[in-house]
Amino acid sequence: MEKNRSIRILSPGRVNLLGEHVDYNDGLVLPVAIDRYVTVDAQPRIDRVIQIKALDLNQYVQIDQKSIENKTDTTGTPLPTWALYPAGVAWSLMRSGYQVFGVDCEYSSNIPIGAGLSSSAAVEVGFAVLWQTIAGWTMDRLTLAQLCQKAETEYVGVNCGLMDQFACANGVDGHAVLLDTRSLQYQPLPLPKNTAIVIADSSIRRSLVNSDYNDRRQDCESAVAILKKSYPSVRSLRDISIPEFLAIRQKMPGCVFKHARHVVEEIERVNQAIRFLEMGESEQFGRLMYETHVSLRDLYEVSCPELDILVDIAESLKGCIGARLTGAGFGGCTVNLVEQSRADEFVGMLYEKYQQKTSRKASVFITHASRGAHVY
Ligand code: ADP
Ligand code: MG
Repeated sequence: MEKNRSIRILSPGRVNLLGEHVDYNDGLVLPVAIDRYVTVDAQPRIDRVIQIKALDLNQYVQIDQKSIENKTDTTGTPLPTWALYPAGVAWSLMRSGYQVFGVDCEYSSNIPIGAGLSSSAAVEVGFAVLWQTIAGWTMDRLTLAQLCQKAETEYVGVNCGLMDQFACANGVDGHAVLLDTRSLQYQPLPLPKNTAIVIADSSIRRSLVNSDYNDRRQDCESAVAILKKSYPSVRSLRDISIPEFLAIRQKMPGCVFKHARHVVEEIERVNQAIRFLEMGESEQFGRLMYETHVSLRDLYEVSCPELDILVDIAESLKGCIGARLTGAGFGGCTVNLVEQSRADEFVGMLYEKYQQKTSRKASVFITHASRGAHVY
């Protein structure tokens, strides 16, 4: 253990460029770690107490590792929700046999919370890297992401896929990182040179996202069950080609067909994107982003008027290569691939025109593909 030393960890948020709503269908996703971070500052302690200050919330907890299983602090009081994220990481690591030292630490973040940019995964991965740095055990970044995902699903109690923690742990400067959610193989792919990733938060938040999300998942499962009758080897929507899928259109209820069609075609779009990124064909890649938006809007039906307006405006602006809603949908953010030299102008125009059309203020900001969580 390294004692008496301050350690700073930077842990990025993430945005998904392509491959939306395919992670629960064994599909391919293409997330990017962004240069917005959770910053954790810590000093190891000699005992097993974990003291954490969440500076953005102005809150503080003290946890003894002995009672971490009970989700209580040192006075026996249940942990507040925010503290479940770092505590869950300690729990997950310990349960897998990794040593977790006591720490005094504080953290804050410039990743908007709850906007779909994975502030939660950034917190988790930041703390995992912190405890790894102190204890010195080795662990590959995929395993680290999986242990953080376990913290969120089993300790915090939020059902999430692996993509968020994966992207935050494995980001590569200037690259998106392709993740095959079935085999868990991954590969960095270069983003077009001199581009910025502009994120526009519509300011819309809808509370029914969870039930809609569950409905969509259900429809995907129904589609697989129907497909199996004609194609017995199909295990998920990953396993069917577009022509095979279209051929059994008549056998599916209309909305199941529409929703599943988005998934089948979206997986194919990511396959095409791999080639375009490898060949540096940015326009073709951008076209896929626009196509994804149309598909999420018309087939998967998870957009909303404000997100459509943001994408329409973006498409009309100089320097915009591609734009689409990102994340679960029904609000939240759009992601825009923009020529770096036009990015400032793009941000100003998007903000202004969105306000003119909706009377709402979007939060629009420039990011770049950056490396995963690391010691600063
Ligand atoms: P997101 O899309 O941003 O990941 P989530 O709902 O998954 O949204 O996670 C947000 C939660 O993560 C917050 O409610 C809080 O509990 C925790 N969190 C995120 N950022 C911070 C922070 N800066 N300080 C404390 N807790 C945070
Ligand atoms: Mg989250």
